[in-house]
Amino acid sequence: MLEDTDQEQQDQRHTAEATWGRRLLVQLKAGGSDLQARIVSSLRAGIPKASQVTAVLGRYGAHLAIVTLALSVGLGQRLRPFADVARSSEPRAVSAIAEAINSPTPGADAWDGYADVTVGKASSAGIVRQAHPQTTIPDRPRLEPITYVVQKGDSVFLIAQRFGLSPYTIVWSNMESLQGAPWLLQPGLPLVIPPVDAAYHTVRPGESAEAIAQAYAVDPDALYNTWNTIEPDQLLAEGTLLLIPGATGPDFDWEPPPPPTPVPVAPSRPAAAAGAAQPPVQPVMPAANAVANGWFILPTGSYAVSGYVFGDYRNPRHIGLDYRCRLGDSIYAADGGTVVFTGWGGGYGNLVRIDHGNGFVTYYAHLNAFAVANGQGVAQGQLVGTCGTTGASTGPHLHYEIRLNGAPQNPKIYEP
Ligand SMILES: [Zn+2]
Repeated sequence: MLEDTDQEQQDQRHTAEATWGRRLLVQLKAGGSDLQARIVSSLRAGIPKASQVTAVLGRYGAHLAIVTLALSVGLGQRLRPFADVARSSEPRAVSAIAEAINSPTPGADAWDGYADVTVGKASSAGIVRQAHPQTTIPDRPRLEPITYVVQKGDSVFLIAQRFGLSPYTIVWSNMESLQGAPWLLQPGLPLVIPPVDAAYHTVRPGESAEAIAQAYAVDPDALYNTWNTIEPDQLLAEGTLLLIPGATGPDFDWEPPPPPTPVPVAPSRPAAAAGAAQPPVQPVMPAANAVANGWFILPTGSYAVSGYVFGDYRNPRHIGLDYRCRLGDSIYAADGGTVVFTGWGGGYGNLVRIDHGNGFVTYYAHLNAFAVANGQGVAQGQLVGTCGTTGASTGPHLHYEIRLNGAPQNPKIYEP
């Protein structure tokens, strides 16, 4: 990471690099493939300063080998990180420079591509300042994924626009926290923002690179990139996070299904059946005891866990706790509060969310049936629904989440 104090220097260097790129391309157009080979070898060695490039071009000939060697030795070490990037992206780098030169006023796309590919890590702390009144592009091209905390008023679309990415990338990179239910996006939730349009995948037991690549409709080569630490022919460890550029992730809906919320199969408890059939009551007066006590009971009445714990080593992005329960078992409000969501939560399946009014919100997912309605006040221990396996679930269990001001908490820590 470069310090901010280096910024001015970075900016100057960036300008020099841009000039260098243009000159090379002019030469490239005039000079043919021999020069192209030398440019590629310069790219491999790292991006030299403009003055050094001028020297290269000026003494084009017998001195070239010596100068190239000097550049390799002198700059290779220092610029190693982005030499790697250049190596993996030579064709794109050259074509991006070509685009930049071909357009009379360099367009945002061309310059973004150029900055991304050829400057790489070295400029992650350097700003490309261009006036783009019509577009919202990040002013710092970056090569590393970052964490972004959802702000009030954010939507997946706004976040995607802010980072110059596809909205699908935002969802596919955060399947564990969004569960393919972008309408549930809440302020305070940390999201991973990859540097390019991509999907994140958590390796499951026995999965091969080929199978993952196929599932995401990419070539297996796409998995061996600068972000992943895997090697070809290596067994993939369970829980490994893979960034898959250009991936097509799982299907999901942008909007919840229209009301009335479908309530699935016969609940085994009469209370749940009656609750599920109730139309939403409006206006709903909060129950007198629908106030948070400030501590949580066990939503299943048991400590038994089945499936993933919070941040499970097999699934590091799992932000809840999977409690064991049987189909139709009662699920209880962990504390008093107001039901703020009852409905379809994508991968969450049938989901109840309770706002406890003290910064805490709890999630009860994969429910078989609902016993509460949206807007209703609930007391601690009140039935909210029954255990099920709706949504992205392989068997009956309760996926339970506690969020404090939007940030996922480890439910184990809050157990009574
Ligand atoms: Zn879960």
